Amino acid sequence: MGSSSEKPQLIIDGKRIDGRAFDELRPIEMEVGVLKNADGSAIVAFGNTRVLAAVYGPREVMPKHVALADRAVIRCRYRMLSFSAEERKSPAPSRREIELSKVIREALEPAIMSELFPRTTIDIFIEVLNADGGTRTTGITAAALALADAGVPMRDLVAGVAVGKVDGKLVLDINKVEDMYGEADMPVAAMPSLGRITLLQLNGVLTHEEFVEALALALKGIRKIYELQKEALRKKYVTTEEA
Ligand code: ADP
Repeated sequence: MGSSSEKPQLIIDGKRIDGRAFDELRPIEMEVGVLKNADGSAIVAFGNTRVLAAVYGPREVMPKHVALADRAVIRCRYRMLSFSAEERKSPAPSRREIELSKVIREALEPAIMSELFPRTTIDIFIEVLNADGGTRTTGITAAALALADAGVPMRDLVAGVAVGKVDGKLVLDINKVEDMYGEADMPVAAMPSLGRITLLQLNGVLTHEEFVEALALALKGIRKIYELQKEALRKKYVTTEEA
């Protein structure tokens, strides 16, 4: 960012730095089936954060020795493209990207009926096109849509959002500035109809009461995101049928 690292005021006249209310999501866009050569794909934007997800499989595992006899192997790669950040990001995989690939895979795995496809692999690629906070949760939301688009049988969709504490207030769907200068950030993902949380991380400190409130705020956002996911899937199939 700029030369000064002085913390900006994050709440002004009861509104957030981008004018949102505390419990307001950023403008969300979702589109499914955006890549012809992938089995499933989706692009999802939360404000200026924009992520593309592509899914291949279930297909034969390469190398063969990683195959599992009772279920599909799920592999996930999260990557921030060089042009996705304000300053060029090195294309070499960072520790953060390696960790996030694992965390995202673990957030998606409970939803995938991998037991139906032994000895195969399902590969999930998450490419951050533009980063402005919440890329892991946007990636999870996009990957769940791409998996559904690929026709992978799922127990539920997975939707995610990060909540945070900024200037003492709990807020939904934090952007990068709120993430950088806030007191805490908590990314959450869940299977909305099963009511199961599949990702919960907390960076910073919250009291017990704040944690309970922040989780409820995240789940409220997740239910809204879930409705948009279903709408995006419906839209693809309605347009395909009409075509
Ligand atoms: P998330 O994107 O899931 O919120 P982080 O909390 O690690 O993950 O990152 C917050 C934001 O900081 C990112 O969305 C991105 O805008 C920015 N960021 C993270 N890592 C980098 C990086 N290596 N280069 C530039 N910006 C980054």
